[in-house]
Amino acid sequence: MPMPPVKRVLLKLSGEVLMGDQQFGIDPKFVSELAKEVKAAKETGLEICLVIGGGNIFRGMAGAAQGMDRAQADYMGMLATVMNALAMQSALEQLGVPTRVQSAIQMNEVCEPVVRRRAERHLEKGRIVIFAAGVGSPYFTTDSGAALRAAEMRCDALLKGTSVDGVYDSDPKKNPAAKRFDTVSYDRVLADNLKVMDASAVALCRDNAIPIVVFSIREKGNLARVLAGEGVQTIVQKEA
Ligand code: UDP
Repeated sequence: MPMPPVKRVLLKLSGEVLMGDQQFGIDPKFVSELAKEVKAAKETGLEICLVIGGGNIFRGMAGAAQGMDRAQADYMGMLATVMNALAMQSALEQLGVPTRVQSAIQMNEVCEPVVRRRAERHLEKGRIVIFAAGVGSPYFTTDSGAALRAAEMRCDALLKGTSVDGVYDSDPKKNPAAKRFDTVSYDRVLADNLKVMDASAVALCRDNAIPIVVFSIREKGNLARVLAGEGVQTIVQKEA
């Protein structure tokens, strides 16, 4: 299945890919490597919106499982995504790539608030816009934040860079016979509860006809290969 033609994309990176080989937190060397991949993608002429998760630092569900108030824990998770966004901004700017961070939770000393028209202008000027703090509300994830920003910024695709190279019919870590889909419909993902993104994010992409491209960001050069239609990925889209 070929990559859909894209001019503007939303790239969602799980927080865990910022840890590199660490168990927790941010590995600046690894973030710098990721930034090089993003820079190379931008140099092909793409407009790029970025959303980075926070799972390398804090996940609300994990806090709640240990007895914290869920909403409070989710706010901590959102703050973690802001830290990741700032780390990526710094890495990109060290490579000479202009960026702006816009956070769904206002923190004016650190970054801009989310303002769609302003984000538009940044993209026109060749800046990468990093959207932080998800949708700004607890009980959501950065996948939903990514789907929301992809819809409002009218992105041609949501690229989900993660640790696995696509969507499988069962967990490839547990089942060696698991089969990777080249393409799969939104409805199948939802009906079979396939591990792509949370259901609200998938439904938002479906309702706005935004293809979701799931690929491994851990392999060097893979983002460029996927964009050039030469990579390994799964495309979640409408039934053909
Ligand atoms: N979060 C939230 N609302 C949002 C986005 C994120 O409450 O709109 C919180 C939630 O606790 C989540 C954490 O931030 O667990 C980190 O985000 P996520 O788990 O999506 O990160 P990823 O798995 O992509 O690293």
